[in-house]
Amino acid sequence: MSQTLFEKIIARQIPADIVYEDDAVLAFRDIHPQAPVHVLIVPKKSIPRIAEAGVGDQNLLGHLLLSAAKVAELVGLKPGGYRLVINNGANGGETVPHLHCHILGGRPMTWPPG
Ligand code: AMP
Repeated sequence: MSQTLFEKIIARQIPADIVYEDDAVLAFRDIHPQAPVHVLIVPKKSIPRIAEAGVGDQNLLGHLLLSAAKVAELVGLKPGGYRLVINNGANGGETVPHLHCHILGGRPMTWPPG
């Protein structure tokens, strides 16, 4: 199967502005930021979307979420607050089939999302 865009970023086959990495996750700035700070955090394991994750991914998903909070703090978003978003499938607005969590901040967010 062909590699997704994010697998290529993880493999350093295409460049990205990486802000955090450990054994299990990679975080990099979104190329089309929707807020003053917009970072994506992805598991290195190729899970297409949250709906395809299984019980065996429980530790990884917990790590992804805790790492998202760590990255948000690293990029200066903790004092002002931020939003975490996971888009799943067509109606969710998913465009890259590799699980990722958006970290958005630097401005007030509105609710409900459009
Ligand atoms: P989603 O729509 O939730 O699947 O999010 C995919 C995100 O990937 C979008 O916000 C895109 O702007 C972002 N994106 C697409 N290509 C790149 C890239 N080469 N580097 C960083 N972010 C990207």
